[in-house]
Amino acid sequence: MTRKSNNHKKGGSRAFTGSGDFRPKKNLGQNFLNDMNIVRKILFVAETSGNDAVIEVGPGLGIMTRELAGSAGLVVAVEIDKSLMPRLQPLAEEFPNVRLINRDILKTDVRRDIIDAFVSGSAGASGQPLDKVKVVANLPYYITTPIIMKFLEDNSGDVDSMVIMVQKEVAERMVASPGGKDYGAMTVTVNYYSVPEIQFIVPPSCFTPRPGVDSAVIRLTMRKTPPFELKDEKYFFDVVRAAFSQRRKTLANALANAPCVGVPREAVSQALEALGKDPLARGETLSPREFGELSNRLWESRDRGA
Ligand code: SAM
Repeated sequence: MTRKSNNHKKGGSRAFTGSGDFRPKKNLGQNFLNDMNIVRKILFVAETSGNDAVIEVGPGLGIMTRELAGSAGLVVAVEIDKSLMPRLQPLAEEFPNVRLINRDILKTDVRRDIIDAFVSGSAGASGQPLDKVKVVANLPYYITTPIIMKFLEDNSGDVDSMVIMVQKEVAERMVASPGGKDYGAMTVTVNYYSVPEIQFIVPPSCFTPRPGVDSAVIRLTMRKTPPFELKDEKYFFDVVRAAFSQRRKTLANALANAPCVGVPREAVSQALEALGKDPLARGETLSPREFGELSNRLWESRDRGA
């Protein structure tokens, strides 16, 4: 049996990627999905409906775009690779609810270039206004973190959820518990803005070409309100970043060395004691909420010039 016919044997679960003469570009993270079961499972997790607008980052050859077009009210697909446009254009002609943008997602203003330009004022399948914006994507792995951070940090209530394929180890970092080696600034940031849940693991064989690592589909449900109150959000993230920038140091030493935190060592130790934590604690032992409490206390010490 040839490899190609083998790909088709399980009731059409394997989709020929149709890459034909297209040479995937490694530097753009082009690992195309070749398994329709995975595409369907992603759509199931995303719970796409006719009243949803979907932002797809990196449609590639369009394997997921086609399915999304059939289930969502509107699909805005942002692809950086100009040479993929002639392959995606027929999809936009076949499905009037597909919009293609040839642009770098990191240089795209989501509100202005996507929401205002295409989503606002558009009707869903039932003629009702589109009521949710969802990001659904098999992300290019070389810029996974910046893309996730962009959607989390720039989101002013526009995006409802993200269902994204990422490297398994990145997904594990997002859901990590305090105390472990995977727990870090990314965990705290992702959990501040959203509720992350790993949905399923995807082996390299589901992509063409195969990546060198396992992948995972993770769902980030955006929080409507922050999980705890902060005196200053930017300062909170300064504290979190400083805490993990020198993981081997105690928190007191790591934060006292950081100009953006601007408090002496003793102030950090005192704030930790007031929280019931060991003054020699390391950053990875604090939960996101404890980081919130610590940064609120330090913000006050800083205000008083302690
Ligand atoms: N969605 C397709 C699939 O599942 O087969 C392709 C996924 S592939 C992992 C990632 C896609 O993101 C590629 O098509 C790549 O060209 C595109 N891409 C890479 N960097 C990008 C960027 N900065 N902005 C938008 N798209 C990008």
